[in-house]
Amino acid sequence: MQKNGQNEERKSRLLACAKQNRAGCGRLLPLRLAAAAVLAAALLALFGCSAKETEVSETFFVMDTVASLRLIGDKEQAESLLEQAAALAQELEARWSRTLPDSSIDRLNAGETVVLDQETAALLAQAAALSVETGGAFTPTVSPLVELWNIGEADSPPSREEIAALLPLPSPDFLAQARAGQPFSLPEGCRLDLGGVAKGEAANRICVLLRESSLRGALLVLGGQVSCVGTRADGEPWRIALRDPDGQQGETLAELRLTDLHIATSGDYERYLDFEGVRYCHILDPETGWPPETDLRSVTVVSSDGARADGLSTALFVMGLEPSLAFWREAGDFEAVFVTSDRRVIATEGLADCLSFSNGAGGYRFEFTA
Ligand code: AMP
Ligand code: MG
Repeated sequence: MQKNGQNEERKSRLLACAKQNRAGCGRLLPLRLAAAAVLAAALLALFGCSAKETEVSETFFVMDTVASLRLIGDKEQAESLLEQAAALAQELEARWSRTLPDSSIDRLNAGETVVLDQETAALLAQAAALSVETGGAFTPTVSPLVELWNIGEADSPPSREEIAALLPLPSPDFLAQARAGQPFSLPEGCRLDLGGVAKGEAANRICVLLRESSLRGALLVLGGQVSCVGTRADGEPWRIALRDPDGQQGETLAELRLTDLHIATSGDYERYLDFEGVRYCHILDPETGWPPETDLRSVTVVSSDGARADGLSTALFVMGLEPSLAFWREAGDFEAVFVTSDRRVIATEGLADCLSFSNGAGGYRFEFTA
């Protein structure tokens, strides 16, 4: 009974967040217009898509990953938004990439003083807050370690001595001082890597653009980050499949049905180095300097805030299952799905109504947790 009550409370909190997000980022419809929209939606549900409504989609490469965008709505508007969204993603990458020369992060890492734009200042402050909240599992000053490991390029791990020489990492607390329009620089020896949150924040910004339009819906995929706006053409929630970390691309463990939420997955199967029988993944434990000794293969976070989903999926992967569940119970503003090394798939109970497990898949055991 109590479980059900908690479940309801969680779900309504998540949905309230999604609604707030929508209202906050879009325009609030005048009442009469809203009533007309409800009627139009009801008619569409009866008679299917409006003749003018169409799906426009494109795949492009940005932020070191494959991105795709599907938009449902008026053709001209959808085509124009597709261009604007892709341009915005490139523009944000040009500010937040660690590796693109002359990005704000590259200039800060080179010791320059940079006058921060509003989006970058907000992202730096959010990264600092996430680091405090996760007890350092998320640490945006991890850059020297990321450079040393160079996962994806290197063919062997660095030595213990090289890793130890970079520890402890500088505290990212100073990022809380970041202010839009103000000059900002990093303390001596400190370098930033926003790879754990940048895609999520880019997704937030792109979704603001999409929600301000009159599109019926959109689905944005930025590597491990998926964001849904509104609904599919048939008025149903978007369906997002969660991958089996051991499977081929097509094998899935569960399916989420969502509207107006962000989903981020971090795992050990996207970018890694296999060396002498050991797998080293691209997420690092900021305390030890090594990939985390975790009991998790992947973590998926569902949140109304894309950057939070992104940063938390990275942090919870470092923390491991039990600390992550304790964190989830305490936070109360997101939901998650964990895939463990001993082949369990554990979803938090707020997802009970919108998640279906692919029972029988890959020898996994499936459960909801409270
Ligand atoms: P994600 O794929 O979102 O989990 O982010 C992984 C990326 O975040 C890595 O490629 C690094 O650039 C960066 N990263 C790795 N470990 C951490 C960490 N513990 N905290 C913050 N960022 C990290
Ligand atoms: Mg992340």
